[in-house]
Amino acid sequence: MSWLSDNTSLALGEIGLDGSPARRGNLLLQWDAFVRQVALAHEGDRVMSLHLVNDDERGYQWIRQHRNSRGIVHGFTGSLKQALGWQALGFYIGIGERLLSNMTDKRQQLLNGLDKSLVLLETDAPYGISLDEMRTPDSVVTLGQQLALFWNVSVLDVEMICQNNWLRLWGKNV
Ligand SMILES: [Zn+2]
Repeated sequence: MSWLSDNTSLALGEIGLDGSPARRGNLLLQWDAFVRQVALAHEGDRVMSLHLVNDDERGYQWIRQHRNSRGIVHGFTGSLKQALGWQALGFYIGIGERLLSNMTDKRQQLLNGLDKSLVLLETDAPYGISLDEMRTPDSVVTLGQQLALFWNVSVLDVEMICQNNWLRLWGKNV
């Protein structure tokens, strides 16, 4: 435990719950691991990267009880209401290809309504949208351009927003 709290560059993740058809068979085991991992992150005051898929908001409800937790909800594709719930807890919303490549009305509403001081861009490299599409961290540039276009700001603005948010997440003053 002290190893975790002494090494402040460490984060826990991805941790979470995955109720997708291929993984839901061991949800009880996932829950057990998740509860322990959240407790570790909480005790060591570590950043968490959360992977939550089809979990009926169980992850959110659990984290909500751990008020001092901090981290990223990675690969977010939920609703604006859910995103604002996370942001109210101080969590950052990970905006990636999955969200930006399929711009439905619901997703437009989400991107317009998010608190920009609690967002991050992510590639999830090497994973693309489908299993046969591999990504590299470089694809963050394309994602930044897409987000800038959508928000009607410059790419530099998106870069600055994400950089400041990243530093703040790690407790560095910006
Ligand atoms: Zn993931």
